[in-house]
Amino acid sequence: MMYPEYRPRRLRLREEVRALVRETQLSVNDLIYPLFIRDGKGVREEIASMPGVYRFTVDTVIAEIKACLELGLKAFLLFGIPFQKDEVGSSAFAKEGVVQRAIKAIKDKFPEAVIITDVCLCEYTSHGHCGIIKGGEVDNDLTLEQLAKVAVSHAKAGADWVAPSDMMDGRVARIREALDEAGFPNVAIMSYAVKYCSAFYGPFREAAESAPKFGDRKSYQMDPANSREALREALMDVEEGADIIMVKPAMPYLDIIKMLRDNLHHPIAAYQVSGEYAMIKSASKLGYLEEERVLWESLISIKRAGADLIITYFAKRVAELLTK
Ligand SMILES: [Zn+2]
Repeated sequence: MMYPEYRPRRLRLREEVRALVRETQLSVNDLIYPLFIRDGKGVREEIASMPGVYRFTVDTVIAEIKACLELGLKAFLLFGIPFQKDEVGSSAFAKEGVVQRAIKAIKDKFPEAVIITDVCLCEYTSHGHCGIIKGGEVDNDLTLEQLAKVAVSHAKAGADWVAPSDMMDGRVARIREALDEAGFPNVAIMSYAVKYCSAFYGPFREAAESAPKFGDRKSYQMDPANSREALREALMDVEEGADIIMVKPAMPYLDIIKMLRDNLHHPIAAYQVSGEYAMIKSASKLGYLEEERVLWESLISIKRAGADLIITYFAKRVAELLTK
């Protein structure tokens, strides 16, 4: 049908009508809020490159979780920042590790919270790499054993889902096997299946104190130039038993989210990373962008591309906006 019979503007004339034909919605149920938890007591420190994002200690994170639950925001992704780091990241699976203590403290108070944990070694190793170093390289199969221990320790502490972010080959299968053997068949795996070697992670490395001390992560994270490889990675993780497939970062990789949506029936999560957050925050602060509208548009575009879940530092802010 052609103009003048068909006039697309008819359905755009006022907000009530636009709302009726809106194809994509954003709800608090779509959001996962990342939280940084460090060792220590009584601390709530703002991260310089991520204004509005804090490092908490186990005692101070409780108030943040409570405030989020009151806004209807229920899902949290925990990152640990330990005092103790060593070559093999042993504080990552310590019974009294920072994340393990945080999970227990949160679950004791708020059993309804959905607690997801980042499973990796980079915040816990003295060299800042995501695995065990052998001969100057990250050794894949040695790392798998450590990751399995980390995942089981999180499950024991009460985590609902574990989220391996290391990009080692075969880690989903190894973690699934370890969880099942340890008696946690219902702990789900949200796999960072498609994690690009991205410069957009810059502010996170400050936040989590996890920048590699030598080299880079190009031998395990994906080349930003590749898309077919993303589908291979995702299909492997599905095969290995992943429950949710994640793409990270989000905005520069909307085509990848769409491709996975068209090819997979698993839930897809997208991580709007620290650099995406920092760009919106800093441009808004300078008056170049309208923060509220831009953050909305960025999140809607991720959902429109096909993501079911969005991990975003804006989660609490969005929950506030949705309930206002
Ligand atoms: Zn890592």
